[in-house]
Amino acid sequence: MPGPLTVWVEMRVRLRKKHPCGSDVWTVTRTGADIGLVCDGCGRRIMLDREEFERRVREVISSAPEAGSA
Ligand SMILES: [Zn+2]
Repeated sequence: MPGPLTVWVEMRVRLRKKHPCGSDVWTVTRTGADIGLVCDGCGRRIMLDREEFERRVREVISSAPEAGSA
């Protein structure tokens, strides 16, 4: 995915590698220097630094939140 990625809480992404539980969909729980993610399949929580996160994302599933909405 070229260019800097906009990341927001509750953003849903598909990662390049499947989690051992079989899901490849994750939801962002925290943004900043490190990105917090929770697996949609099993609820496992992980933290990735932003660079690692951007490398692993294959597809953004949810659309960006409306400007102005909290
Ligand atoms: Zn999982």
